[in-house]
Amino acid sequence: MGQVKKLQEEIIRLKREKDILILAHYYQRPEVQDIADFVGDSLELSREASTAAQGTILFCGVTFMAEIAKILSPQKTVLIPYPLAGCLLADMAHPQEVAEAKRSHPNAKVVAYVNTYAQVKALSDIICTSANAKMVMEKIPGEEIIFLPDRNLGAYHAKTLNKKVALWDGHCPVHQRITWEPIERVKKAHPQALIIVHPECPPEVTDRADFVGSTSQLVRFAEASDAQQFIVGTEEGTLHQMKKRAPEKTFLLPEPHPICDQMKMITLDRVYKSIKENIYQVEVDEEVRIQAGEAIRRMLSL
Ligand code: SF4
Repeated sequence: MGQVKKLQEEIIRLKREKDILILAHYYQRPEVQDIADFVGDSLELSREASTAAQGTILFCGVTFMAEIAKILSPQKTVLIPYPLAGCLLADMAHPQEVAEAKRSHPNAKVVAYVNTYAQVKALSDIICTSANAKMVMEKIPGEEIIFLPDRNLGAYHAKTLNKKVALWDGHCPVHQRITWEPIERVKKAHPQALIIVHPECPPEVTDRADFVGSTSQLVRFAEASDAQQFIVGTEEGTLHQMKKRAPEKTFLLPEPHPICDQMKMITLDRVYKSIKENIYQVEVDEEVRIQAGEAIRRMLSL
């Protein structure tokens, strides 16, 4: 038996023995996704975490995601296999800057993308994900919004809204690097392929794609579509679930392949160490947790 398989079996044995729920984001390594009880995007994972029956959740993703699990389920132990797995997009919104923006836009509601740290969520009126951003921006009362931190996602939806939207100057470096030219090269070689992309991609890509959606929406679209070939504009880990759900279809990536190094910091070895030694436990300051929880629950209730 291969080393990877052995380690996976041992992790599965330990999670059953210790009654631990393993959640994994789509951008995780394939061998990590395969030991998870549930693989999803940020919205699905936060829902799953909030309804989990297990007393411990091991979160295979970046730290802001594990924070959400702790915010929604403070009585549970939340583990992350590597606490330095951050999000470069979340790093672009500092709480002090958000507080300043609120002061200079006193009538605006702050809509924070889920890719923010707990302290920023605590300063926000409501949270959104890439799956529900448009609906949240529409439904939040008021005519003015500060949308943070992803400029591309905010701009993509702002153009269809009848509200004033102040966009934060942040971006996900992984999706920002997905430009039109490499996609067009793949399209020339595979003219039948549909172009499906994440809204964190730059406007030159989202404006020309056949379908724009959150990671889960991309996976579901590819599975349900009659098309057989897809050029996928999001992090490469997503292809693992696409291939599992539609093994007869072809999924292509633009060059260079979009890879989130932060997500890839979660390795099988680190998952094993985490589950075996009960490390690293995620903690969130209680006042921050309560305020951030209100903003997340406002989203979940919509
Ligand atoms: S892909 Fe981008 S937004 Fe997602 S975790 Fe990585 S840096 Fe953050």
